Amino acid sequence: MTLDQWLTQRLEKTKNAGLYRQLRIMHHGPRPQMLVNQKDVLVFSSNNYLGMANKKELIDAAKIALIEFGVGSSGSQLTTGHSYWHHKLENRITTFKKTESTLLFSSGYLANIGVLSTVPEEGDIILSDQLNHASIIDGCRLSKADTVIYKHVDMMDLENKLKRTSNYKRRFIITDGVFSMDGNIAPLDKIVALANRYDTFVIVDDAHATGVLGKNGRGTNEYFDVEPDIVIGTMSKAIGTEGGFVTGSKTSIDFLLNHARSFIFQTAIAPAICAASYTAINRIEEDKKQRSLLLKKIKTVKTTLTEMGYEVRGGETPIIPVLIGSAEKAVLFADKLYERGIYAPAIRPPSVPYGQSRIRLTITTEHTEENIKKLLLSFKEIGKELNII
Ligand code: PMP
Repeated sequence: MTLDQWLTQRLEKTKNAGLYRQLRIMHHGPRPQMLVNQKDVLVFSSNNYLGMANKKELIDAAKIALIEFGVGSSGSQLTTGHSYWHHKLENRITTFKKTESTLLFSSGYLANIGVLSTVPEEGDIILSDQLNHASIIDGCRLSKADTVIYKHVDMMDLENKLKRTSNYKRRFIITDGVFSMDGNIAPLDKIVALANRYDTFVIVDDAHATGVLGKNGRGTNEYFDVEPDIVIGTMSKAIGTEGGFVTGSKTSIDFLLNHARSFIFQTAIAPAICAASYTAINRIEEDKKQRSLLLKKIKTVKTTLTEMGYEVRGGETPIIPVLIGSAEKAVLFADKLYERGIYAPAIRPPSVPYGQSRIRLTITTEHTEENIKKLLLSFKEIGKELNII
């Protein structure tokens, strides 16, 4: 059997399980109304929560840096890749998150891998929420520490596991601040209280909370007014650009800079991306109205879908999962939305548990009232047609 024949057989199984995926082409920049695969659609699946990705101010900042620094960083940050803009952005994230120091990574994925494979060591244990992001799971797999999974946001289960793991040298709790497929907020106040009681460190992946939660958009720690030991983030959501970061004490950042392989051996993000990210954080801090506008839109969508009879998950975050059931039904639902000009993909296993396939909507400040009306009407009609509501 050739390699292709063998892989075709395996892909057939993926197809039969309703889990086959394909790429779609976005024909221009992120905005609610877009050409996707040459079809004009309303996009309800973008991470561009505050509309930053296409703000003129960010584009202008990137253009200036592009002219000065070129299109690529041309090296890892430890060699020739740490431009003035990387330095400025790291300091800006530090003041934004109110920590001591920050280190940039090429992505949030690599930031999680970097922290988890480097900080906990052999003889330690990581307690990880059942619904943590794939990059956390992969980071735990790479770590020499043991990992134990606690039930999703279940503080009783976490406490039981803390009681049973006192024989380990050190313990680390790792949680998403906002869960990417469920949109709910981790009870970080309770997690930090447990960690203090059981002498455990707390690491938070604040990918979806940065720029969204808290009075100043600082994230889950500001929302609960607590201080985790290490915060991981990405600029690929509300900040509207790309690249990951880790922020915390001077010592923990110095340690990562010296030991995290996904930092040491990666090429730095482009300086122009840093300049745009820097500008985005300024905007996020200054313009609090955008966050209340976002929250208002989120509430409208969640309340209306719940009233229609849908099971809607999540907290006050832009991620709105609408439960459909089987993978096949969720795909059919997404196809019907697409026929009507709405792009909101079905999320299926392995991203979510079997039987909990869903349409995962994300709301941004850029969605107009008209956009939201069209979305809600489509959910009403398709839900009735498929006997879901
Ligand atoms: N953590 C969470 C919770 C995420 O949702 C994501 C992105 N899907 C990441 C980390 C990875 O971030 P990035 O896209 O910057 O790699």
